[in-house]
Amino acid sequence: MTGEQASPSALPLAGEPRQVTPRAVWLLAPNPGPMTFDGTNSWVLHEPGRRGSVIVDPGPDDPGHLSALADLASDLGGHVEVIVLTHGHPDHFAGANTLARQVGAPVLAASPQRGDRVIGPGDLDIAGLSISVIGTPGHSSDSLSFRLPADDAILTGDTVLGRSAPAILDPDGRVDQMIGSLELLRSMLDGGEPVMLPGHGPLVTDPAGQLELALSAREARLAQMADTVRDGYDTVAAIADRVYSPFDERIWRPIEATVRAHLRYLTDQGRLSKPVRLD
Ligand SMILES: [Zn+2]
Repeated sequence: MTGEQASPSALPLAGEPRQVTPRAVWLLAPNPGPMTFDGTNSWVLHEPGRRGSVIVDPGPDDPGHLSALADLASDLGGHVEVIVLTHGHPDHFAGANTLARQVGAPVLAASPQRGDRVIGPGDLDIAGLSISVIGTPGHSSDSLSFRLPADDAILTGDTVLGRSAPAILDPDGRVDQMIGSLELLRSMLDGGEPVMLPGHGPLVTDPAGQLELALSAREARLAQMADTVRDGYDTVAAIADRVYSPFDERIWRPIEATVRAHLRYLTDQGRLSKPVRLD
């Protein structure tokens, strides 16, 4: 909802696959919108010379997009070994069960409501690929990131986006967890500059800078909300209107949920000059 704007020319057209690292092919889903920006980024991972592939975030339940993903996976590796979710929001998950039936592969996710198999932090060896699963809650409680050490790449889902800052949808999303996840990803850079493959928007080729920006923008947003409360605004709606106006009416609910998440964090930290109503 805030932050740097990257050049839209950095994106492929929906439905046109683009190989971005030796093991990752990007397929943009045709679901642009105020919450999804250009659309959801789906990924097909394949180890060169091996059979099988992994699909990350099938995206919306769009027959054309799901068929294109299945075809791409079949061209690359013959069959889909598993479908993996960065998290269970509908713009990433809605097509998962349809695709799973289509290609005969299980869905792996952090949330048991979304996956046939639950996965968490650790190593995943599938179809010849070595994938490190990183728990990165905050945007949602079930958010995961996936590191491909062989490509020096990290799929970040909606934890780090290629443009703007992700929503934090209270009560499932939490600001303290988001800050912790961004700091964890930063600690994993270890002086390197892996490319980040985000859930929406263009590739992040300056991960250290982007994480720094995400953390400082979050702190600026918290300070702004604390100031707004000091100025006498004391309901979520009034504070949301004050901080985010003007905004697209269609994203009023996620904006309110994000404001609530920030106010809850500020309350827990004892940073509000007076109490606010979180209902
Ligand atoms: Zn999401």
